Amino acid sequence: MATYLRPTSQSEALAALAQGRLTVLAGGTDYYPSRVGKPLSDDILDISAIASLRGIRDEGSHWRIGATTNWSELIAAGLPPLFDGLKLAARKIGGVQIQNTGTVAGNLCNASPAADGVPPLLALDARVEIADIAGSTSIALADFILGNRKTLLRRDQLLTAILVPKPAHSARSHFAKLGARKYLVVSIVMVAATLEVDAGRVRAARIAVGAASAVAQRLPLLEAALIGQSCDASLGEHARPEHLAPLAPIDDLRASREYRLDAGLTLVRRVLSQLGARA
Ligand SMILES: Cc1cc2nc3c(=O)[nH]c(=O)nc-3n(C[C@H](O)[C@H](O)[C@H](O)COP(=O)(O)OP(=O)(O)OC[C@H]3O[C@@H](n4cnc5c(N)ncnc54)[C@H](O)[C@@H]3O)c2cc1C
Repeated sequence: MATYLRPTSQSEALAALAQGRLTVLAGGTDYYPSRVGKPLSDDILDISAIASLRGIRDEGSHWRIGATTNWSELIAAGLPPLFDGLKLAARKIGGVQIQNTGTVAGNLCNASPAADGVPPLLALDARVEIADIAGSTSIALADFILGNRKTLLRRDQLLTAILVPKPAHSARSHFAKLGARKYLVVSIVMVAATLEVDAGRVRAARIAVGAASAVAQRLPLLEAALIGQSCDASLGEHARPEHLAPLAPIDDLRASREYRLDAGLTLVRRVLSQLGARA
């Protein structure tokens, strides 16, 4: 490792990123395991000491999850039922040691197809805030992740926060993950859903499926089919195989393509029925 910078302010970090080819390090729980057996030759920018990037705040029209907020901090935060799905996903990320270190933003920047944070944040319609020395902007999470381990981020940019808009109606969310065992497992498929409900009817639905395509996908046809439906335990019955058309699962050592589609549909139905019964 040639250089290891650990600035305490965002402006110092952005100035350093603008000057060279630094690799950003947050919790390091994706970065270090991917380099086992290889020399640590990267110049590192460790962002973990930047206080302004830590924590979750209500900013009126949205919640702001700072870039160095870890999974344990998210689980402990006092947040409305809208965040239940994301918190369920957080509890399934590795074990407690990983949750204490790994960040929500790092999960998005690493852009693994099996990243458990992506479907719940897609179902929350999240945006990501990106900064460089010239300023900052925000884009939809759906546009930020381009493919397997590929994002829109340039080498001189930091993801500074995740922004979750406040829904128009009463809302809650749910998450389910299928793995070969209950904990410490890479997902075979996972499903997240958010329902906005008014007078017992679905007013908005956002459903995302992960580990069944290079990037987790929303299911727009199913989302549209749910609008106006009565919100109860039968909600899952509206999900049909054709609603999974945006998915493109692969065969790998964890599961076959067919199994992922079948299990994905079962999880979608289960998540919707459980959410419907609670709403
Ligand atoms: C034992 C173990 C179990 C795990 N289990 C799971 C699991 O069940 N589910 C799951 O989804 N993941 C799991 N992971 C992966 C990992 O813990 C998570 O993806 C975690 O959220 C990554 O966050 P981090 O802060 O450690 O990222 P880091 O390793 O620090 O960074 C990951 C990547 O993102 C970049 N990056 C990080 N933050 C920023 C930023 N703010 N701006 C720009 N670039 C940035 C880094 O340059 C790097 O390329 C596991 C890892 C381990 C070691």
